[in-house]
Amino acid sequence: MGNAIVWLRDDLRLADNPALNAAISHAQATGGRLVILYVLDEVSGGVRPLGGAVKWWLHHSLERLAARIERLDGTFILRRGAAFDELRKLLRETDATGVFWNRRYGGAERDLDAEIKGYASAAGLEAQSFQANLMFEPWTVRTGGGTPYTVFTPFWKSCLNRPEPIRSPLDAPTNLLGLDSSSTPARDALASDDLDAWSLLPTNPDWSLGLSLRWQPGEVAAHEKLEHFIEHRLEGYAAGRDFPADNNTSELSPHLRFGEISPFQIFERIRRVPTSGASDDMLEGIRRFKAEVGWREFSYNLLFHWPDLATNNFDSRFDHFEWSDPNDGRLAAWKQGTTGVPLVDAGMRELWQTGYMHNRVRMVAASFLIKNLLIDWRIGEAWFWDTLVDADPANNAASWQWVAGCGADAAPYFRVFNPMLQAEKFDPEKRYRERYLGNYETDIDYPAPIIDLATSRGEALEAFANVSGRSKQVRPPASLT
Ligand SMILES: Cc1cc2nc3c(=O)[nH]c(=O)nc-3n(C[C@H](O)[C@H](O)[C@H](O)COP(=O)(O)OP(=O)(O)OC[C@H]3O[C@@H](n4cnc5c(N)ncnc54)[C@H](O)[C@@H]3O)c2cc1C
Repeated sequence: MGNAIVWLRDDLRLADNPALNAAISHAQATGGRLVILYVLDEVSGGVRPLGGAVKWWLHHSLERLAARIERLDGTFILRRGAAFDELRKLLRETDATGVFWNRRYGGAERDLDAEIKGYASAAGLEAQSFQANLMFEPWTVRTGGGTPYTVFTPFWKSCLNRPEPIRSPLDAPTNLLGLDSSSTPARDALASDDLDAWSLLPTNPDWSLGLSLRWQPGEVAAHEKLEHFIEHRLEGYAAGRDFPADNNTSELSPHLRFGEISPFQIFERIRRVPTSGASDDMLEGIRRFKAEVGWREFSYNLLFHWPDLATNNFDSRFDHFEWSDPNDGRLAAWKQGTTGVPLVDAGMRELWQTGYMHNRVRMVAASFLIKNLLIDWRIGEAWFWDTLVDADPANNAASWQWVAGCGADAAPYFRVFNPMLQAEKFDPEKRYRERYLGNYETDIDYPAPIIDLATSRGEALEAFANVSGRSKQVRPPASLT
């Protein structure tokens, strides 16, 4: 009899989960049981602790997943600690002969997986990892010269031109017992942590009301979101995605962050949208939406090859940049949405209240921090990491570097978004700003701008010009060194 463990990580779903299916097959083939494991690992070296908003999401996502697993008679075990230790313990407790997981792409996570694979093979256990969360594995997408892509357009073209079709998503299993339900270990015999005891939800104060009003974590909600997007927003997506008042985008990012839905499922569903006789807007919406999901693939490609993406400038010329002191009150004003620059403040308040900010406003708010306040992009990245429900190891770091001008395929350093012009263009009726700031134009408590936009822009350009005098220096990818 061979019991099987599937170790869930950023793949909190039952459908299109190759590791889960493999674990079920292993258990069935050997007459064993299936054990589904999640480890809250805040201690393994290099693994970045989760931010507050993401913890809120994780709690609800695990709660819903646990309920679904229970309905399918499955065994779901929660453990907290160093993943390697916890997994080894559970392997022993269950006498498992196989362990299965879907891949993650961060450096520390990959090292951990390699360590576990080494341990398993030395112990004579089957250990298998699967492609599940990216459509294009980063090591398979290379330029003609064999190097990783650092520019999005050729990267995405090369992905889409692949001869092999992107695989079809897998169905969710209909029971999670494994084959022999009478065999040990019985579900109750295995200790599992109490999710509430992990204290993932905020208390004192509980700031999560706005998150609960806006979001429904979990696999079922992810698919509802996708259906709603296709029915109501896809056709207007290309033209509407930049207008923050209208919620024209899919809002799938937190679901993708935790793998409650896979990109394979998204692409397959989009492929089934009828295109014969479809409007040009629909065709353009489809193309554009797929490309945005492609940006996620691209960001993960960068993270895979440059694992220190969240901490080191992709373009090392920026290592010489002199950032200003973040402790003079301006950073606090930015975080609190009291800079006196309405679009920035509305965005930062949307973030604080709902754990999300519209993409256009993210660009403007980030550009303001980096290029008007001259505050290091890593400080902004860390704030987003703590406050976004979709805080993502690849997308967040890559996007901040993009705005700063030091990233791969980045906006040039001299592109300083003017938040006033951006607001006029993308929030012409002030609906977005007023949603988060009320009647800010007549509100005597609404602050005056903490900085003169034109002067600070000029200063930023001067400071960035010192950097740009040197030639671009992309650090060699870790995967080739
Ligand atoms: C400073 C800054 C920080 C960001 N931090 C994050 C983050 O932590 N997590 C995150 O998922 N996105 C991040 N983004 C990218 C983008 O803003 C969000 O993915 C998007 O707003 C999510 O909303 P949506 O799901 O409705 O997007 P849609 O427009 O519906 O796009 C569909 C999906 O494509 C992906 N996507 C869209 N835009 C991008 C992009 N620019 N880069 C990478 N993937 C993208 C996301 O997975 C998204 O869910 C950041 C952007 C900026 C400018």
